[in-house]
Amino acid sequence: MMSDVIPKPKPRPAPESLPYWQAARDHRLALPKCDDCGKFWFPPTRTCPHCLSSRFQFSDVSGKGKIYSFVTYHRVYRPAFAQDVPYVVALIELDEGPRLLSNIIGVSPDEVACEMKVEVVFDDYDEEISIPKFKLSKV
Ligand SMILES: [Zn+2]
Repeated sequence: MMSDVIPKPKPRPAPESLPYWQAARDHRLALPKCDDCGKFWFPPTRTCPHCLSSRFQFSDVSGKGKIYSFVTYHRVYRPAFAQDVPYVVALIELDEGPRLLSNIIGVSPDEVACEMKVEVVFDDYDEEISIPKFKLSKV
C-alpha cells in the first residue's frame, strides 16, 4: 500500500497476552476467566487478581460495555498519530467487569461522555494483529 503516513507502532504481545491477541485477530474479544471464582480480569496475568487462583482460560466476552472515563488528545505526541488528532482514549468498563484502555472511534470527541454504551470493533493492523477499539452502541 502506497502511503506517506508514518506507520503506527505495532503492538507486541507479551506471552501472557498472546491468547488475547490471537482472539482479536479472529475479531473476538477474549479475556482470562478464572476456573475457580468465575470472574474475568484484564490485563492478562498469570494468576486471578480476585482469588489468586492460577487456573484460568481465555473466554470470549460480549465486547459490550460503557465508557468509564476518557481523555481527548488534541496535541500530536507521536507523528504516527498526527492524522488522528483529536482522538479519544477511554477506559471501557466491560459488562463482564474488567476495564480496558482503548480508542473510541466513529464519533466526534465532543459527543463522547462517560456512561455511554459502547461495543468492540476490530481495527486490522496487518494479517497478524487486529486492535480492539470501541464505537458507540446504537440504542
Ligand atoms: Zn479467581
